[in-house]
Amino acid sequence: MDIVKKRITVLGATGSVGLSTLDLVRRNSSKFSIVSLTAYSKVEELAALAVEFGAELAVIGDETKLATLRNLLAGTSIEAAAGEGGLIEAADRDAEVVMAAIVGAAGLRPTMAAVRRGATVALANKECLVCAGDLLMQEVKAHGATLLPVDSEHNAIFQVFDVKRASSVEKVILTASGGPFRGRSYDSLKSVTPAEAIAHPNWDMGAKISVDSATMMNKGLEVIEAYHLFPIKKSQIDVLVHPQSVIHSMVEYSDGSVLAQLGSPDMRTPIAYSLAWPERMSAPVKRLSLAEIGSLTFEEVDLKAFRCLALARDAMEAGGAAPAILNAANEVAVAAFLSEKLRFVDISSVVSDTLAACDIKAPQSLSNVLEIDRIAREAAENQLALRAQ
Ligand code: NDP
Ligand code: MG
Repeated sequence: MDIVKKRITVLGATGSVGLSTLDLVRRNSSKFSIVSLTAYSKVEELAALAVEFGAELAVIGDETKLATLRNLLAGTSIEAAAGEGGLIEAADRDAEVVMAAIVGAAGLRPTMAAVRRGATVALANKECLVCAGDLLMQEVKAHGATLLPVDSEHNAIFQVFDVKRASSVEKVILTASGGPFRGRSYDSLKSVTPAEAIAHPNWDMGAKISVDSATMMNKGLEVIEAYHLFPIKKSQIDVLVHPQSVIHSMVEYSDGSVLAQLGSPDMRTPIAYSLAWPERMSAPVKRLSLAEIGSLTFEEVDLKAFRCLALARDAMEAGGAAPAILNAANEVAVAAFLSEKLRFVDISSVVSDTLAACDIKAPQSLSNVLEIDRIAREAAENQLALRAQ
């Protein structure tokens, strides 16, 4: 008897999460088939993946590369498209699960398209929730979509959060590895290089999120992400540094029980959970050997050295457009740091000065959010120009 394959679309197929997703699909080819794959600039890699997985549609974000994509796919039946319209079309095709793994606010419209057709969206693209959390969650409800968190912390919480008894949850505790600069003072961070910042001790990730982990903005974005995903108050979200990245997060209940999800730091576990949900599937990750690890340690966050986490919390408290502005300014600042135009420690100052320069009136629509994102990027570029003088 033929097994009906689950139809999967991967937005951001050439990235770290995208490739881990395709690794699982490759190993389970009798269970999954690929509908659409997208990338931004890696056109050769995208075409090769589309051919390997027999995709129906391949979309390249950079429109100047459409002709190359068409050439690479000539002689196959794979359709090619480009630009934001193409990315939205990819999300719109009838896949049951859409892996939203584009990095940054660029993923917002395609992710929203998948939500609006009521798909199951495996959400890695945390920036979507940060800049449009209220709107995205409203649309999830309105269209009966299912949102499965892929981010390891939120996937952990999803696995142990008793939604039927949400009132008995006292706290959600997000763990943080502390990144490559854990234990360093603010002053010692003034001269760190992009290569040092992206060398994460536990996780192998894309450049932007690796820098976010080094500044701890990543944990700040994750606090906001948790606030939107789970029925909890802002004050119920704690962050705890746990350098081994074995406990991926915890939920504390009113009777004092603390439930956690543990595992080796490999994104293929939360991705497998999201692809197979509500079932489970096998994933080729290193099995956790606590005896080998020996001890798990914990410490408080140093908010003086890692100001981005405090900025993100403040933006969440301020509400309205503040998280969207924080996110846009951070994307601009991280890109400037990666191209050696901004010091590591100035990422936080660009973000806070951009927040101070922008109006935080709450967005009412998706186009409102995108307008706020555009204005905040301009304001952040102005901050970069001031620092370059
Ligand atoms: P990568 O940088 O490795 O990959 C990003 C993907 O998005 C690539 O396919 C890239 O295409 C595509 N892309 C980049 N810019 C655009 C754009 N403007 N329009 C359309 N597509 C674009 O990122 P990661 O895989 O590390 O992260 C993806 C998302 O998942 C992020 O939001 C991140 O925060 C989140 N996440 C990642 C984790 C990880 O372990 N990596 C863990 C938890 C969350 P191309 O390759 O052609 O440039
Ligand atoms: Mg995470």
